[in-house]
Amino acid sequence: MNKSSAERRIKELRASLEHHRVLYHVHDTPKISDEAYDSLLRELESLEKKFPEFDSPLSPTHRIGGEILPHFKKVTHTVSQWSFDNVFNLEELRKWEDRNITLLEKAHITIKPSYVAEIKIDGLKVVLTYEKGKFVRGATRGDGQIGEDITENLKTVKSIPLVLKDAVSMTVIGEAWMKKKDLEKINKEREKNKLPLYANTRNFTAGTLRQLDPKVVAKRNIQIFAYDIEGLSIETQEKELVLLEEYGFLVNKDRSVCTTLDDVEKFYKKWVNKRHNENYGIDGLVIKINERTLWDTLGYTAKSPRGGIAYKFPAEEVATKLLAITVQVGRTGAITPVAELSPVLLAGSTVKRATLHNGDEINRLDVRVGDTVALRKAGDVIPEIFDVFKDLRPKNAKVFIMPKNCPSCGSVLEKIIIGKELSAALYCRNKNCPAQHVEGLIHFVSKKGMNIEGLGEKIVETFHDLGLINDFPSIFTLKKEDIEGLEGFGEKSADNIITSIDGARKVPLHRFVYALGIRHVGEQTAKDIAKHFRSLARIQDATFDELSSVEGVGEKVGKEVNTYFSLPETKQLLKRLCKEITLLDEEILPDGKLFNKLFVITGTLPTLSRDEAKVLIEKNGGRVQTSVSTRTSYLLAGENAGSKLTDAEKIGTVIITEDELKSML
Ligand code: ZN
Repeated sequence: MNKSSAERRIKELRASLEHHRVLYHVHDTPKISDEAYDSLLRELESLEKKFPEFDSPLSPTHRIGGEILPHFKKVTHTVSQWSFDNVFNLEELRKWEDRNITLLEKAHITIKPSYVAEIKIDGLKVVLTYEKGKFVRGATRGDGQIGEDITENLKTVKSIPLVLKDAVSMTVIGEAWMKKKDLEKINKEREKNKLPLYANTRNFTAGTLRQLDPKVVAKRNIQIFAYDIEGLSIETQEKELVLLEEYGFLVNKDRSVCTTLDDVEKFYKKWVNKRHNENYGIDGLVIKINERTLWDTLGYTAKSPRGGIAYKFPAEEVATKLLAITVQVGRTGAITPVAELSPVLLAGSTVKRATLHNGDEINRLDVRVGDTVALRKAGDVIPEIFDVFKDLRPKNAKVFIMPKNCPSCGSVLEKIIIGKELSAALYCRNKNCPAQHVEGLIHFVSKKGMNIEGLGEKIVETFHDLGLINDFPSIFTLKKEDIEGLEGFGEKSADNIITSIDGARKVPLHRFVYALGIRHVGEQTAKDIAKHFRSLARIQDATFDELSSVEGVGEKVGKEVNTYFSLPETKQLLKRLCKEITLLDEEILPDGKLFNKLFVITGTLPTLSRDEAKVLIEKNGGRVQTSVSTRTSYLLAGENAGSKLTDAEKIGTVIITEDELKSML
C-alpha cells in the first residue's frame, strides 16, 4: 500500500469506527458485532504503525489508555465552573421564577421563560475542551476555577467523541458516572478478596477518573452525559442538547421541555418515584431556563448563575445525633428500644424517633447514646438507623443496656416462645401491666380499629391514668360529666368526645376483630377471619383446626386466635362489649366475581389509588396480598411497577391493568 492510499484508508477507518462508536455508546443500537469493530480497530492500528506520520493521539486506537502519569497537572478553566443553587420544593422553585421575572421586567424583557428539566446525575462533573474540532483537554471541576487535567483518562471514555465533524472550538460540560450494576460486580469481586467496598457509584467514578494509570480507567466502563456547551452561542438549551447529540456525545434522553413550573413539577414527581429504577444514581433535577439569551440578563447570585437551579429530591438518608434510648412497652408486652434523635428532615418530614427493634439489633449496630447515626427511609417504611459513624463517637458515649424490668409495672422481662422459636424481643408478661393496657386501648380506638377519632393517644393515656377507662367496654360507658371539668376539657370538647364514641358503636366485624389487638392479627388477617366466619359467635366457637385452615391464617396465628377466644376473661369482655356496640355485616359478597382470587397491586394505576383498588377487589370477594407468590392469581400493575412485576414475570403470574380488572367485574 502506498502512502496516499494508506492515508485515505486510515481516514475511512476512523470515520467508520466513530460512526459505530456513536451507534453503540450514544444510541445503544450497535449495528456491527464487537468482533467486527475490533477487526477494524486492528487494521487501523497496523496502518498507523506502518505509517507513523498519520498516527494521531486522537485516533480511536488510543482509547485503550496510554502511559502511567506521575501526577495530574492543574488546569485553570477558561470559564468559571459554577454550580447551581438548590431548591427543595415547588414553593421555593416558584420563588426562583418570581425573582427571575422581576429581574427581567426591570431589564424591560417581557419574554416568559420556558424550562428544560434534566435529570441530575449523582456523578463527577467534567469539563471537556475542543479546539478546532479536536479534543484537547479534559478536566475535573475542582474548585470551579482550577481543576485537574485528566485528559488521558477521559480519552478512554467511549461516550464522548475525540474528533468532531465540524472544526468548532467549544467547552462541553458533562457528568461522569457508572452503572450501579457495574459497581455491584466490582464490589462482589472485592468482597471475595476481602478488600474494602466502594460506598457508591459517585465515589467509585471519582476514584477511577483520578487513577494515574489510564489503562485501569479504560477497563472500567465510565460513561459521560454531556449537558452544556460553552463558547458557542445557541438560542436554547433544548437546541444545545440536540447539537451535543449530533456531535456524537451521549446525552440523557430523559429530559422534558416545560412551558410552566407545573409541568416541571409533574416531571419531578414522576422521577421521585422512578429514581431507584434507573441504572445510575439520581439526586434531583436541574431546571434550566430554555432561552439562553435570558441567562446573561439574569446574571449570577453570589455562588451561581440565576438561569438554572437544582431541584433536589428529598433526602432518604441523613445523619443525626442519638440523644437517648428509651423503651416502649407494646400492647402485647413486647419491649421496643426507641432512638430519641436530634430532629432531622428526612424524605420530606421531620423525624425525632426511630425504632431500634430489640437489644440484639442495638448490639449488632453497636450504637451508643451520643453517637452520630445514619438514618434512612425508603418508601413507606418507618425510619431506621442503619449505620453508626464510629469515628465521630464522643468519649463519653454510653453503651445502652436493655432493662431487666418493665419500665411500667416492674415485672421481670423475658424472651418468649413464638411458634417454635425464642423471640428476639423481651416481653413483659404481666397481664395487668398499665403500659400494655394503654397501648391496647390506643390500638382499639385507632383508625383501622374502632375508629374513635376524638380519642387521641394523649387523651387515652390521661383517661387511663385517671381511672376513667380501664378496658374496652368502659370507653362506651364514659359520660359527658366524667370528662367535663377535667383539666384541659370544657363542655364542648367533652361533647365532641362522647359524640365521637357514639358514632363508633356500629362497626364492621373485621375492624372489630382487628381492634381487639390479638397478637399477630393485623388488618388483613382480621379481614380473612371475618370474611370466613361472618359472625363473632362463629369466630368464638371455631376450633384451632377451623381457624388455622382459613385462607391467610395458618397455624401460628390460628393458635393465638384460638387461645385468645378460649380465655374466660375474653368471654367476659366480649359479653360486656357487645352490649355497647353493633357489629355490621361484612361488606363482602361471598359469591363476588373475584371470590377466592388473590391479587397483588404494584405501580401507579391510571385512575384508582392502590387503596381504592384494594377496596374494589375486596368488595368483590378477592383478596390482596403484599407480595407475589405462586398462589397469586393476578398482578395488577400500573406505571413504574418495580420488583413485584419482575417477580410475577418470573413465576408466570397473570399481569393485568386497571382496565382489565374493571372488565372482570
Ligand atoms: Zn409491664
